[in-house]
Amino acid sequence: MNVALVTGSSRGIGAACAAALARAGYKVCINCIERMDLAEQLAEQLKDEGHKAICHQADVADAAAVNEMVAHIEREFGPVDLLVNNAGIAIPQQFQDILPETWKRIFDVNLGGCYNTIQAVLPHMLHEHRGCIINMSSIWGQHGASCETAYSSTKHAIIGLSRSLAAELAPSGIRVNCVAPGVIDTDMVQVLGQETLDMLAREQIPLGRLGKAEDIAHTVLYLAEAGYTTGQVIGVDGGFII
Ligand code: NAP
Repeated sequence: MNVALVTGSSRGIGAACAAALARAGYKVCINCIERMDLAEQLAEQLKDEGHKAICHQADVADAAAVNEMVAHIEREFGPVDLLVNNAGIAIPQQFQDILPETWKRIFDVNLGGCYNTIQAVLPHMLHEHRGCIINMSSIWGQHGASCETAYSSTKHAIIGLSRSLAAELAPSGIRVNCVAPGVIDTDMVQVLGQETLDMLAREQIPLGRLGKAEDIAHTVLYLAEAGYTTGQVIGVDGGFII
């Protein structure tokens, strides 16, 4: 059975991915930075269903904490062969108002988190000549977004990272792909307010609804199993960007 680490999986898209992977037979590690209560609740639910799940609290921006988490997973389940880099933060602001520490934190979590986790799991993947990495970008990694310059920059960089790493690691039997969600109904987008979310669903999204976390989990599961697909960016956005 394969071992999966899904970062940022106490709630939202990550939680749906962790649940889908566990139900598909992966041993999963649920990770978060604060809401261990939710992470543990999800792990208990999955275990009650007969699946394998553990939790580990770690800030993905902290390389030492990530290394400890990967060591914990290895002790419990064995080495990670599926990594889903999902943890991310968005702090919408006009560019001129972004403080240096805010800019740095968004980069440290969204992009630095990918660097830290990939560095931690790659030696085993290289040794085994197999592995799968799925990085969470965004439609704002493919297009510009007003008041989201830091977020959008990191999500563009995640696409560059994924494509470059896919080219570099394909000869080593390791696949790297990217998912670009549209507007997904999680805590992250609540800052927009219900009126704006309803307007987006009605006027901007051809499929006429916000995405669900499970819509992204479905694509993550597909990419985890899609053995001849690498270096791709899969949009899951209800047709927002066509
Ligand atoms: P969310 O509801 O805000 O959940 C974020 C998750 O990441 C939580 O589990 C949170 O843990 C965890 N997290 C945050 N910072 C972390 C850190 N430093 N270390 C470890 N875990 C951390 O977000 P979401 O909407 O599910 O988004 C998940 C991913 O999809 C993000 O990368 C986001 O950029 C991307 N995305 C989302 C949308 C959307 O519309 N929702 C669209 C495009 C892309 P705690 O619970 O402990 O805080």
